[in-house]
Amino acid sequence: MDEIRLQDVVQMRKTHPCGSDQWTVIRIGADIKIKCLGCGRIVMMERADFVRRRKKVLTQGPVPEAETLRDISQRQ
Ligand SMILES: [Zn+2]
Repeated sequence: MDEIRLQDVVQMRKTHPCGSDQWTVIRIGADIKIKCLGCGRIVMMERADFVRRRKKVLTQGPVPEAETLRDISQRQ
């Protein structure tokens, strides 16, 4: 699954020096910004790099607003 959402809590393949392997996605653009849940350190990496280093998504972030709006219009 290549989907990336804001506020995703992800487990990375490599454990951070602080001992945590869980990160939360705080920015999605050409690059992805993630924040370590253990020490709060912010790391930026390329999207492809992020997908490769990500082990799994522990908690998926909320559906993006555009998708939510589309859902609502489909229901009406
Ligand atoms: Zn850390």
